Amino acid sequence: MLKFSCFFTPLFCVLVAHSSCNKGTISQNNSITSTITKEQDVTSSGALTVSTENTSGAQAKEGSSKLTDNNTSTKFLTYSFDPASFMQISFPKEQVVAAYTLTSGDDAQGRDPRDWKITASNDGTTWIQLDARQYESFGFRTQTKRFSFKNIKAYKYYRLNVSGINDNRVGPNVLFQLAEWRLIEVPEKDQTITPASATVETITQGKYTLTYVDRSTDVLPSVKVGLIDVFKKNYSKTVATYHPNALTNIVFIMNPEYKGVAATYGAGVVRYDPVYFKTNPLDLDVATHEMMHIVQEYSGGVPGWVTEGLADYERYRIGISNATANWTLPNYQSGQNYTDAYRITARFFVWLEQRNPGIMVKLNNAARMGTYNNGAFWLSETTKDVAQLWNDYKLNPGI
Ligand SMILES: [Zn+2]
Repeated sequence: MLKFSCFFTPLFCVLVAHSSCNKGTISQNNSITSTITKEQDVTSSGALTVSTENTSGAQAKEGSSKLTDNNTSTKFLTYSFDPASFMQISFPKEQVVAAYTLTSGDDAQGRDPRDWKITASNDGTTWIQLDARQYESFGFRTQTKRFSFKNIKAYKYYRLNVSGINDNRVGPNVLFQLAEWRLIEVPEKDQTITPASATVETITQGKYTLTYVDRSTDVLPSVKVGLIDVFKKNYSKTVATYHPNALTNIVFIMNPEYKGVAATYGAGVVRYDPVYFKTNPLDLDVATHEMMHIVQEYSGGVPGWVTEGLADYERYRIGISNATANWTLPNYQSGQNYTDAYRITARFFVWLEQRNPGIMVKLNNAARMGTYNNGAFWLSETTKDVAQLWNDYKLNPGI
């Protein structure tokens, strides 16, 4: 027996007179319900508009036309991220969308969408939310991720509203980028719901708030408890010592898509690698180090050994479980240099602070104000340059 399958758009389906090709049936309340039989990417039959365009226009190299050009190596980029902005695909005929893909851009991951929702409408006025995501993450550049939801109604208009990006910033000079957005029709019998990839908890300590995001499920619960405890005990101390006007809202993300130990980026966001914390569940003062980075807010021009040396100096100064984690500052050994950063520099900083009380706060202030330089700072604070100080340290490194 011959069995027809329809691969055509609704306009042509009628020609092959196959009932399952019908896009839908009009129900009593005038909404169209799905009777589609085959999954289909319908993006190209719609027209894209955006509320915030690339400043060079839709057809520019990074204009909005790149968002639906079916080419994941091109991208749409804007220079002033607005959490209320949206991208919209308008179809000449209603579509029953139940999945979509987003492809990360080829550039800095801080510009990737993190929180968004998909809404739909038939009149452009009343919008129905079909899907919402928060604290999503792309593991690599130009990665395509698919998100599914259940929907059997047909709509002419679909919107993607990105309300948060990885950098956790909004406003002028905050870049947003997305390589591709595709809308997909899915037959009702094949529809699924992509599970949320993050659990989100908010912890308040005095005037400070931590949003703890867990995108992993197999790290010991004690790690989360411990990292939150470090926030509660230490963030206010680091802020009070180095930068009283530092951010009051910070974010920890246990993120399997981040490989490393931990890293701070954007506006007060720390990513933690669950693989590291599975094997090092006691190394909780990594958070003390990272929170120092949040407080530092150096704008550039500061040597890495100063930035990282100060972060480990702070961990040494106020860490709550360094000993439990077997974390110590290594004794001086020949071959080391103050530019080695991290613990080697931190030990030198401890030595300096003992001989020049308050110098670490001054070092941080100079770095934050953009006035630090290797030549002048140490001379003016100690009458010796940093190389001479390191020589003194080598000769008598006791702390
Ligand atoms: Zn660091």
